Amino acid sequence: MKYAIIGNGVAGIHAAEAIRQLDSCGEITMISDEVLPPYCRPMISMVLEGSVAVEKLPIRPASFYDDLNITPVLGSRVSAVDVDNRTVSVNGRSYPYDRLLIASGADPRRIKADGLELRNIFFMRTEAHVRRMLAVLPHVRRALVLGGGLVGFKAAYGLLRRGIPVTMLIRSGHPLSMQVDLEAGRMITGELSARGLDVRVGVEAAAFEGNGRVAMAHLSDGTRLLCDMVVIGKGVFPARGFVPKDKINVDAGILVDEHMQTSVAGVFAAGDVAESTDIARRTPWVNAIWPEAVAQGRIAGMNMAGHPAAYPGSLSRNVIRIFGLDVMTAGIVSPPETGDFEALSAADRRTGTYRKLVFKGDRLAGVALVNSIEQGGVLTALIQSATPVRLPREALLKPGFNFRQLMPI
Ligand SMILES: Cc1cc2nc3c(=O)[nH]c(=O)nc-3n(C[C@H](O)[C@H](O)[C@H](O)COP(=O)(O)OP(=O)(O)OC[C@H]3O[C@@H](n4cnc5c(N)ncnc54)[C@H](O)[C@@H]3O)c2cc1C
Repeated sequence: MKYAIIGNGVAGIHAAEAIRQLDSCGEITMISDEVLPPYCRPMISMVLEGSVAVEKLPIRPASFYDDLNITPVLGSRVSAVDVDNRTVSVNGRSYPYDRLLIASGADPRRIKADGLELRNIFFMRTEAHVRRMLAVLPHVRRALVLGGGLVGFKAAYGLLRRGIPVTMLIRSGHPLSMQVDLEAGRMITGELSARGLDVRVGVEAAAFEGNGRVAMAHLSDGTRLLCDMVVIGKGVFPARGFVPKDKINVDAGILVDEHMQTSVAGVFAAGDVAESTDIARRTPWVNAIWPEAVAQGRIAGMNMAGHPAAYPGSLSRNVIRIFGLDVMTAGIVSPPETGDFEALSAADRRTGTYRKLVFKGDRLAGVALVNSIEQGGVLTALIQSATPVRLPREALLKPGFNFRQLMPI
């Protein structure tokens, strides 16, 4: 059996390990444009903030490929997949496969603005990006971050922790608007503003100016801003440009069934590039987070090696520390006003805590907790298992609720 895996991120490596556990002699080829041993992508933001050394990023040793008898094809981009002839094209060479996994992750969203070719304008997706950012940090006096999603937020947080004042341009009213609701967003903005973040809402960068390296941004409201570093954190998009869309069904991501198989038999997808069923929304969704990439990679690998395994669906969730705030979210925290959802919340300004629960029918569909994240894991498990909640709902708002009461008698 010939296995090909596109991408050596966490989804790809968990698939390779699952395959090797079940098939000791199949040929595995792993193709990636990154040449490093597999590393922890979320931790690049900790490298930026200075809490983790870049050498600590790898999650597998350099011997990973030898240890698992994998043929690595690194520093190479896949340009096409031919599902009729079962081949993958890389630099003019064809690699045959019987089973293919697409685990190519996501690419940062690009922006349109003049002057993007100037130095010190960065994306933050790879180890190489963050190394380049570290090299210029000693000369940076003011930074500009475009976007307040997870990556934009983490870039701003890292720079603030380095003592660099940051201006953040966002479209919605507060950073992390996809992760948290308005109340939690206000608390986060307050915490960040107290440490030097200047948030501007509804403004875009139209152009950058400088003598070789960025020195100023021209904003869409006509104002100008001095900045010697820019980070573009406008979200990510599944890296599926090489996928034949006339053969493999795609939406935002590559659509997969519960076995992580695409619409083409023998072709699987996992991680940030895949679109699976979202447990809370009960609809296809791309949840581009690390734990789902791990789980999806493993399930895909098992199925590729002929061992049927079902994936229960994905759930957005995050735990984030923001200076003095601990924030935990899962599922739908800002539900649409369709009448299907009921939200309960409790905020205590004195202690700076906030807890919010979102229900759909008798199931918990979302949770947002600020500085009171006790039992967040139990609440997340309630959403994942779609367990009917038979307690008075207010009981779950209390941090010390007795979760044994949730068990069926
Ligand atoms: C700064 C940052 C902070 C994050 N923080 C969190 C967090 O706090 N919590 C959380 O859960 N998640 C977080 N994430 C998201 C998390 O890192 C991803 O969900 C996870 O890494 C996805 O793994 P993957 O294997 O699907 O893709 P990736 O890790 O992106 O791996 C895909 C690999 O495929 C390669 N590739 C792409 N296209 C091609 C091609 N055509 N040919 C060859 N190779 C290709 C890519 O270069 C890459 O090496 C963060 C991400 C970033 C960037």
